[in-house]
Amino acid sequence: MLGMMMHRPLSIIEILRFAAQSYPKGEVISVRTEGDLHRTNYADTFARVGQLAHALQALGINPGDRVATLAWNGYRHFELYYAISGSGAVCHTINPRLSAEQMTYIVQHAGDRVIFTDTTFVPILEGLKDQLPAGLRFVIMTDRAHMPDNTLDALCYEELLDGQPTSFDWPELDENTAAGLCYTSGTTGNPKGALYSHRSTLLHAFGCAVTVQTCLREGVRIMPVVPLFHVNAWGLPYSAPLTGASLIFPGGALDGASLFKLMDETGVNSSWGVPTVWQGLLDEIAKQGRNPNGFNEVIVGGSAAPRSMIEKFETSGVNVCHAWGMTEMSPIGTHGLLNEDMKTRSFKDQMDLKSTQGRRIMGVELKIVDENGARQPHDGQAVGELYVRGNGIISGYFNNPEASAAAIDAEGWFGTGDIASINEDGFLLIQDRAKDLIKSGGEWISSIDLENVVMSHPDVASCAVIAVAHPKWDERPLLVVVPVPGKTPQKAEIDALLLQHVAKWQLPDAMELVDALPLTATGKVSKLTLRQQFAGYKLPDMD
Ligand code: ADP
Repeated sequence: MLGMMMHRPLSIIEILRFAAQSYPKGEVISVRTEGDLHRTNYADTFARVGQLAHALQALGINPGDRVATLAWNGYRHFELYYAISGSGAVCHTINPRLSAEQMTYIVQHAGDRVIFTDTTFVPILEGLKDQLPAGLRFVIMTDRAHMPDNTLDALCYEELLDGQPTSFDWPELDENTAAGLCYTSGTTGNPKGALYSHRSTLLHAFGCAVTVQTCLREGVRIMPVVPLFHVNAWGLPYSAPLTGASLIFPGGALDGASLFKLMDETGVNSSWGVPTVWQGLLDEIAKQGRNPNGFNEVIVGGSAAPRSMIEKFETSGVNVCHAWGMTEMSPIGTHGLLNEDMKTRSFKDQMDLKSTQGRRIMGVELKIVDENGARQPHDGQAVGELYVRGNGIISGYFNNPEASAAAIDAEGWFGTGDIASINEDGFLLIQDRAKDLIKSGGEWISSIDLENVVMSHPDVASCAVIAVAHPKWDERPLLVVVPVPGKTPQKAEIDALLLQHVAKWQLPDAMELVDALPLTATGKVSKLTLRQQFAGYKLPDMD
């Protein structure tokens, strides 16, 4: 027997309409490319989003069209998220850190009709213009006074909005209508597109809102350092207005000093981003000898947060929530917030829990399987490939049947490519990406485990462990370290530290000191580039 309830389609624009009515003064503060700090709120944003929807219509954008953005975190980018999806088109966020080749590929693959760009990225587009489809229009996200000279024949964002009515007759869309498109960064092969729907976006936002209650509520100021141009800034453009939390957008200056200053000025409470960003902030905090005003929470993910980083924040009174997810998951899968009873445990026990990737958010299911696809127990011991299922997880890739078929298993779960264990309480521990695990003599070594320990050495600023081919053992670990300025970490000391946590056979065979580690387009250490850099590396016992 079926229930007898109305079925109203879930729709993205309803989030902002709700925020405009329920939290009209919820703040949206942005560092602008124009150089100043811009302040608005949810009520005024909703009105401008109405104007923008009219402007999109005037540009000839139809339902289903892909409209791209190439922009920092700021209020205009936020407006585009709502106006594009709300009018039935698809908001395709482009990561400006992609290579020219990848960017050209995804604009063509997505079939974008218009690209909205910050002034910063105009030169990139000018360089690519000849390879991009004819007929593609460009809009520069600024006012007339700040329009740069350009060869794009570009329109001006503020001029498009000027004089448009603030109310728009939002269409009633099927909730399965495509709303957003984000490509994985494609470290191997071409990027693949995750095509989000209105329904998946709302259910993900609800899942986050009911789980991450520390900050997703009215009165909290959240700073997404995680970009709007990749993985939907971890869903914050939706979950923050839904819950009345304010948004502080940092623009393009993401170094520790700039973030500290902005957080201090605006009273950011909760900051969301990848570990590399928080390393910069921690350095600035050490320099200033204090935390920014009002700062009390970090949500960290995208790659494993080193335990030493978590402990540093926690001992200074900042709650750390270690989250895990991926583009294909909208993107949040797990969060590291502790239950009240867990908060009464010893500091060490709490840090043990916080160093894991945490527990699933509402609406995400997890399973680990062995190489034959057989489910493994959630006992904290068994390790296997992690598969996920839920309403915010892709069922396939946009216009890519081959990749789609490979992504989903016979039971309909999505294979993450991560290797993990899950304990009895549901805490997930990511051991590695499958392709980053080091296979030594038939045993596996987790690069994340080694990095975690090495990062706690006082002379180490950052590090990565990669596999190097070995004639006898197949692969052996090579440790690549960026020293703290003026320091020269010694391998013997680091080995001694590692031996407190790992078996002797897992110790790296060699250590190399470098000035910097290569980063991917999403700000993570690029192990692929490092492996290429050290291809053919001769380990000491290979002479
Ligand atoms: P890409 O970096 O290729 O663009 P995503 O941003 O979607 O892709 O990254 C997803 C991957 O990042 C996950 O599959 C996982 O390997 C890694 N990852 C994300 N968060 C964490 C975390 N907290 N700990 C360890 N790995 C993480």
